[in-house]
Amino acid sequence: MSYLTDDGKVKCAVCGKAFGNISPSHLKLHDMTVEDYKMKFPGAEFIGEKAAARRRLTVSKAEIFPETKQLKTKAEKEDDKVNQTDDEKIKYPAKRRIFKFLRDYFPNIKDNYEIQKKTLLGQIEFCIMSDLADPVRKIDFEFPDAFWHNPGFYYHNAVRIDRLTEAGWKVIKISGVDPDKDDLLKAIKGLY
Ligand SMILES: [Zn+2]
Repeated sequence: MSYLTDDGKVKCAVCGKAFGNISPSHLKLHDMTVEDYKMKFPGAEFIGEKAAARRRLTVSKAEIFPETKQLKTKAEKEDDKVNQTDDEKIKYPAKRRIFKFLRDYFPNIKDNYEIQKKTLLGQIEFCIMSDLADPVRKIDFEFPDAFWHNPGFYYHNAVRIDRLTEAGWKVIKISGVDPDKDDLLKAIKGLY
């Protein structure tokens, strides 16, 4: 037996009132759960035709306009970018691991930090990119052998170290293609 009405609603099998759909809160009035209702009136509809049609329309809209969904993910992606922590922005997992390790000892550590020195007049005297740097403690961590190190970015090593040292920075060189915990601890010994 169908409880659907001609005007697109569905009748409650208990009280005969017509609704858009049979809700759990309505069944409560009859002291019934959805399960009780299904048991007592097998095959009784829960959704009126109008509601069912509306639901079908929503589904087909999503199928017809999948780009709506994509646009949302794009926006969500932008949000994610903003919410990304510093380590999540680091492209190379090997570097990310080192960053996270060093951050326990140097909480202000920054990835690809631009070390600038300005003259008294505020003109930039030099601008040196660092692999990882603690700008608060003025420590520059260099990984010259690491595979993720971009040599094009850096001054000739000796010049670079001179300039940074003159500006009050400490330059820590960490060797190895993929330095491990021991290499890192050895390099920062005496600094923490
Ligand atoms: Zn009812």
